[in-house]
Amino acid sequence: MPDVAFVNGAFVSLADAKVSIDDRGFQFGDGIYEVIRTYGGRPFELEAHLARLDRSAAALDLIQPYSPAEWTNHILEGIRRAAYPEAKIYIQLTRGVAPRDHAYEADLTPTVVLTVRELHSLSRSVQAAGVEAMTIEDIRWGRCDIKSLSLLGNVLARQQAKRAQVFEAILLKEGSITEGAVSNVMVVRGGTVMTAPEGPRILSGVTRAVVLGLARKEGLPVQERCIAQADLYGADEVFLTGTTVEVLAVVRVDGKVIKDGRPGPITQRLAAGFTGLVG
Ligand code: PLP
Repeated sequence: MPDVAFVNGAFVSLADAKVSIDDRGFQFGDGIYEVIRTYGGRPFELEAHLARLDRSAAALDLIQPYSPAEWTNHILEGIRRAAYPEAKIYIQLTRGVAPRDHAYEADLTPTVVLTVRELHSLSRSVQAAGVEAMTIEDIRWGRCDIKSLSLLGNVLARQQAKRAQVFEAILLKEGSITEGAVSNVMVVRGGTVMTAPEGPRILSGVTRAVVLGLARKEGLPVQERCIAQADLYGADEVFLTGTTVEVLAVVRVDGKVIKDGRPGPITQRLAAGFTGLVG
């Protein structure tokens, strides 16, 4: 089955999908994106992803070319055309094409790209064993709540993790955990699930919200608050949440074993609850 691309209103093969070198996404990273996955062929939490796309667009004064209903139609059509058992949908919206100048005209036509590719989930053995992470200073800009294309801080952190042969970089700003390079981070201590509060330092993860909702439903105390590096090392459990990682245990951070080095009971409960939701 083919990977499918949708560029500025038309479906084309991936090989024919092209944008101008004068596109401000290419020149400045002046744009936003979303990553959505399917379960059972249906996009998961589509409304929440489209609402975040709207928030990102509004924060950057970007013109939204489509209503949520129109986005939904294009996405469902892309899923139908690609016909993968499970798909990863990538939406990219840039300010459009213009001669290179940092400042922009208000009337540019935004560039829309949507791709639908086959989704390869993490293997069951990785999910069952958990992963290793390392902490890295968070050098990103002050509006990480916007899902901006400008991802250099995340790219460099993730590459540092790759070089160190660990799965994820956990980012620290002024001694507190913000999030992962591609995920949100949750820490369990004394039965309480803790994670950094929403705000400009983190992306408000769609999976984060679903998992916090699950935790509250299960009667687990939840605290959205600053978490220090020492709290991380001394945690009972650490786990990541995200569209691609789902609920993923972290069993070692900076070479230090978390508790007994195995996915903890609350992580397992929330992972099972998540699987129940999407299954
Ligand atoms: N934080 C960052 C920096 C991310 O890139 C992502 C996902 O890609 C997340 C958090 C998790 O967000 P979501 O659950 O909406 O996928």
